[in-house]
Amino acid sequence: NVRVRFCPSPTGNPHVGLVRTALFNWAFARHTGGTMVFRIEDTDAARDSEESYVQLLDSLRWLGLDWDEGPEVGGPHAPYRQSQRMDLYKDVAQKLLDGGYAYYCYCSTEELDTRREAARAAGKPSGYDGHCRVLTAEQAEAYRADGREPIVRFRMPDEPITFTDLVRGELTFTPENVPDYGIVRANGAPLYTLVNPVDDALMEITHVLRGEDLLSSTPRQIALYKALIELGIAKEIPSFGHLPYVMGEGNKKLSKRDPQSSLNLYRERGFLPEGLLNYLSLLGWSLAPDRDIFSLDEMVAAFDIADVNPNPARFDLKKAESINADHIRMLELKDFVAACEPWLKAPHAPWAPEDFDQAAWEAIAPHAQTRLTVLSDITQNVDFLFLPEPVEDEASWNKAMKEGSDALLKTAREKLAAADWNADALKAAVLAAGEEHGLKLGKAQAPVRVAVTGRTVGLPLFESLEVLGREKTLSRVDAALE
Ligand code: GLU
Repeated sequence: NVRVRFCPSPTGNPHVGLVRTALFNWAFARHTGGTMVFRIEDTDAARDSEESYVQLLDSLRWLGLDWDEGPEVGGPHAPYRQSQRMDLYKDVAQKLLDGGYAYYCYCSTEELDTRREAARAAGKPSGYDGHCRVLTAEQAEAYRADGREPIVRFRMPDEPITFTDLVRGELTFTPENVPDYGIVRANGAPLYTLVNPVDDALMEITHVLRGEDLLSSTPRQIALYKALIELGIAKEIPSFGHLPYVMGEGNKKLSKRDPQSSLNLYRERGFLPEGLLNYLSLLGWSLAPDRDIFSLDEMVAAFDIADVNPNPARFDLKKAESINADHIRMLELKDFVAACEPWLKAPHAPWAPEDFDQAAWEAIAPHAQTRLTVLSDITQNVDFLFLPEPVEDEASWNKAMKEGSDALLKTAREKLAAADWNADALKAAVLAAGEEHGLKLGKAQAPVRVAVTGRTVGLPLFESLEVLGREKTLSRVDAALE
């Protein structure tokens, strides 16, 4: 039975790399009928925040990536916040010490630095040199008498560690590249290096799917796992699969500080969760060579970790937007109408709530659905319907109102006033007005559009006029002529 985990640290805002990791774990769990465990790695009090924790949960809920065990839903391995599991880690650390798998290390930071420098200068491996591996009782006592507070260090085996990465194939790490490492701080606080694999063991995780940045910790964790198995704490070593790096601008790793990496940005701009997830799934995976657009269900049905590509994936905002646009087109109209709602209300909407007209919105919605890239754009696309006067966009005005525009607008006004109030008739009216002035439809409709909507670009004009109504349309053309 597959058990995967998503185990972020609640620091800062959630970012897209984190979502990609969550998505791949989730898709793998759902594809295999396995269990998705959500664990919060909040053992770093200096960096973790409650605000970030709340955001993480809220973000996953928004994305629709659900979990079977974890915060809010509970489960057999509760609690799922590491800050509430400290006693467990202390207990395991003690067992590792008692079993000789770990030892107290009294080396000070300065001593470690000095020896590391010397090793480097001599061209030797610069990791921990094993100084405290075999202290006599007297030496240890002398350090203690000296007031030194030891850290706990894990004793790495002297043989190479080989494992088969689910994405990268067989990998081998030699001992000089994986020195003994700290698992408990001098103040007794357990480190990530301990708590992460201990929880994976206790929670019986079968597959660890995570970012490539964590690959170097895998041999250490495998060695620790072996100790945990000998101690009867773990059952078996999980399989590991490391997901490719996500590259941003200039072929540099997309960093948390990169504005493009912030999940909130996509949410605020009105990406659909399914559009964003579709795009993020392509960062290392694909459904088929010729298919970029698919549903989450299709992804789940096809997802296999063995198909993940180890090469770095490039984050491409334009492509993300275009995929989102396709998902907007795929919505049922009523779902599109509902999805836009937040942007039609305060604080996004610039019109007074009582000026909003649901019927007008529903009438124009089909025309907006075929054009939006992100939902937040809906506000400016429909503001002409709900603002008492069109926005004053000077650039649009200068562009569309040229010499002769007034004459054209006058003719257009007469013909519009006489027309039946439907899009086809309104189009014919403006077409006829243009002909009188030697203008093609595109040139003739530009001043009308700016007079009525305030902008040079927007939803199809004649449908817009139809929805806005005769009275408002004509009075706006009159205002433009004043
Ligand atoms: N808490 C770790 C992180 O945020 C998770 C590491 C892992 O997936 O093993 O990077």
